[in-house]
Amino acid sequence: MTDGSADIGVYGLAVMGANLALNFAEKQHMVAVSNRSSGRISQFVDEAGSLKDRIVASADPEQFVRSLKRPRSVIIMVQAGTPVDQTIEVFRPFLEPGDTVIDAGNANFLDTVQRTQGLDGTGLHFVGMGVSGGEEGARHGPSIMVGGSKESWRILKAPLQKIAADYKGEPCCDYMGPDGAGHFVKTIHNGIEYADMQMIAEIYGIFRDGFGWDAPRTSDVFEKWNEGRLNSYLIEITGKTLATTDPKSGMPLVDIILDSAGQKGTGRWSVIEAQKLGVPASVMEAAVAARSMSSRLEERVTASGVFGRLTSSSIVEAESVSVGELEAALLAGKIAAYAQGFAVLEAASQEHGWNLPLQSVAKIWRAGCIIRSAFLDEIASAFDGAERDRNLMLAPVFTDMLRDSHQSLRKVVGNAVFAGIPVPALSAALAYLDDFRRYRGTANLIQAQRDFFGAHGFRRTDEAGDFHGPW
Ligand code: NAP
Repeated sequence: MTDGSADIGVYGLAVMGANLALNFAEKQHMVAVSNRSSGRISQFVDEAGSLKDRIVASADPEQFVRSLKRPRSVIIMVQAGTPVDQTIEVFRPFLEPGDTVIDAGNANFLDTVQRTQGLDGTGLHFVGMGVSGGEEGARHGPSIMVGGSKESWRILKAPLQKIAADYKGEPCCDYMGPDGAGHFVKTIHNGIEYADMQMIAEIYGIFRDGFGWDAPRTSDVFEKWNEGRLNSYLIEITGKTLATTDPKSGMPLVDIILDSAGQKGTGRWSVIEAQKLGVPASVMEAAVAARSMSSRLEERVTASGVFGRLTSSSIVEAESVSVGELEAALLAGKIAAYAQGFAVLEAASQEHGWNLPLQSVAKIWRAGCIIRSAFLDEIASAFDGAERDRNLMLAPVFTDMLRDSHQSLRKVVGNAVFAGIPVPALSAALAYLDDFRRYRGTANLIQAQRDFFGAHGFRRTDEAGDFHGPW
């Protein structure tokens, strides 16, 4: 097969693939593009504008592969799951040893491990690449988490770092480790994203159902918070969404949006993996569960009729909790959620022998992705020279923040609980912190119960060895 002229190929021209291809073209790369249905290809080319000169489009898979320079790099950006396997099979006959197939969708990392093994011995490289930042990120600079062989990283590093987001001159794209490492890091990114969003939504719930504030007034607070310690993309867009008016009804748009949110699976995967690794991830778990509860709309309507609805203004602003305490509570919750997320990453790194670069993870999340924030810069600094398995809550910068903020979290959770306003993720964050700092917990009783019913034995505080009780 002869060499083509394109530096990189993008297969799959829905939202993510199309924007990623345009991003490559804008950064001076020749990009080969293709898609299963040809309609998307012509539409993409028609809309590429001045970047059309750097696009080589073909509907035929062989032609698409032929249009690439060797060694070839083909990014697959199609619906996650079986479509990825089907696409690999379509290209396989035309690829040669040394070529790299990159799955840039939201794959389950276990599938990525399997796909890597599936190409073992073929001379082809398989890369599992987590891409965060949605449509906007793909077009102008996403955060990119690469997993695969070191050799493929050597080839991909320059073009990927060129299209990635930039944080103060540093590209938000790095090598995470072999096989499923990149997709695993993306999964945990999404788990943290669920937690972050849920805690913000819970605080919004206190403003709405506790203080009785309207959306525009709440928006002002989030806008102000975005200039402080909580500065982040999610706080920024929360302020903006709350300030938006529905052109149809003239009401705040959030007020006419159904309170039932979907999920595609990555949040759930992060929680499942945390469970498998035996790492507490209660804030992410609460967030995933809250999403599931939100989708049970009919049941909730029935239950509100049975148990009664909340009355508004049940938390008195300033008297019960202040706006500043809500801000501090959110910060404390966020620290707990990130501490859990990074603990899961470290445990997975050990389990799978990935040697995940935790500091780089924090660094490449500082821009381009949905959870980007000033806070991640502090996490990156906290990993500087520190032992990688230390819980983030024990890093001096976060210990100081928690000393200042954890009582606010307690007050906010306490008031919300008494008012009947659900705050599952914030409560989980508080319980995690309380459990973590508790010198003597209650697992002594669990040990006793397990020995009582199953003769599992227990350890004593005053003597080494395994013992049984005289039950
Ligand atoms: P998508 O809606 O998930 O998938 C549509 C694309 O998949 C189309 O190009 C479609 O081709 C192709 N496709 C579906 N089944 C196929 C098959 N059996 N064989 C070949 N191609 C097939 O697209 P997307 O939203 O751009 O997302 C792409 C990937 O990125 C997904 O894994 C998604 O989870 C991930 N992701 C999405 C976002 C986001 O914000 N949307 C953010 C990060 C990551 P046809 O045109 O022929 O139907």
